[in-house]
Amino acid sequence: MKPEADNKPLYVTQPAMPPLRDFLPYLEQIWDNKILTNCGPYHQQLEQALAQYLGVKYISLFANGTLALMTALQSMRISGEVITTPYSFVATAHAMLWNGIKPVFVDIEPGGFNIDPRKIEAAITPQTTAIMPVHCYGHPCDVGRIEEIASNYGLKVIYDAAHAFGVQSGGSSVLLQGDLSVLSFHATKVFNTFEGGAIVSPDAKTKRHIDHLKNFGIVDEVTVVAPGINGKMNEISAAFGLLQLKNIDMALQQRAEIDHKYRAGLRGIDGIHCPKPPASAVHNHSYFPILVQAGYRLSRDGLFQKLRDADIYARRYFYPLISEFPMYRGMPSAATANLPAATLVSAQVICLPMHPELTDAHVEKIVQIIRTA
Ligand SMILES: *Cc1c(COP(=O)(O)O)cnc(C)c1O
Repeated sequence: MKPEADNKPLYVTQPAMPPLRDFLPYLEQIWDNKILTNCGPYHQQLEQALAQYLGVKYISLFANGTLALMTALQSMRISGEVITTPYSFVATAHAMLWNGIKPVFVDIEPGGFNIDPRKIEAAITPQTTAIMPVHCYGHPCDVGRIEEIASNYGLKVIYDAAHAFGVQSGGSSVLLQGDLSVLSFHATKVFNTFEGGAIVSPDAKTKRHIDHLKNFGIVDEVTVVAPGINGKMNEISAAFGLLQLKNIDMALQQRAEIDHKYRAGLRGIDGIHCPKPPASAVHNHSYFPILVQAGYRLSRDGLFQKLRDADIYARRYFYPLISEFPMYRGMPSAATANLPAATLVSAQVICLPMHPELTDAHVEKIVQIIRTA
């Protein structure tokens, strides 16, 4: 007999928590040596371990992904206008406003979730200095085409790679693309340090500069070289990251299996579409987005409510679009007519619960609700 799904609420994400006893030795070490922050031993160990795991050379840890985005823009002295996607979490554009930069929204690819490279050139003006694409749900952007446009127009590319932990494209880490890539290790992400983030740099000099910026611009006791910020990851978060890293392969494997079960369970339901990442990519299954389209018995919001009534907290990522929030919606590029593909997907999407603790019974319960709604 199959186990019943328990009746606890199901959230869209849930952090994988290693047993507390496994974390205690790390805490004892911190209590012993009394190094709580300022790029201590766990911070250094996690930078090395992550660089190795992710297949990158230079990584700088941050207190969260948003500070990392803000610092990435600062470090390249980005100003004026930056081309980005409306189909993301608000932090992508907020990081620009905090730098006095104007975001310019470009639509996403029809049938996908990422910025449409064919629409970027028309949005470039003399004020444009950079492009900030997002690897939405960990699906890699068209990095080749974006690189081509950036080099033709002399623009920097900073990827918001908050969803792209462990994602590979064309045989190597997608984090090696562009001038910088920014990760988030927030509690809701695939790999978490409670709160945390990182910037992946292409060379040692860039990493050094970013490391100064995240520590007030301090180089040594008497030298401050830039108006930096306090963006450092603390030792408890770094230690938790080291522990998490031990289980990450298993967690990613479990996510792949859940993805597979959802796809099998939802196959053939009229009006329910489960978009796939490009086959060439090594995926991290960070989210499981479905599109509720014509032919389904309920509207998107009807299904969303139906799930909620059953204590299943799916989320409408990303609805509303960033461009619909009050601080952006007056901008010409925020007009709905400029963003038809993003507007459509935003009205159809639901991200189903996706995390390693989901059981077969949970997945079956969610599938049954969608099938019989
Ligand atoms: C989570 C997220 C961020 C922000 O990261 P925090 O660590 O929460 O500050 C930025 N961009 C995207 C796309 C995200 O999903």
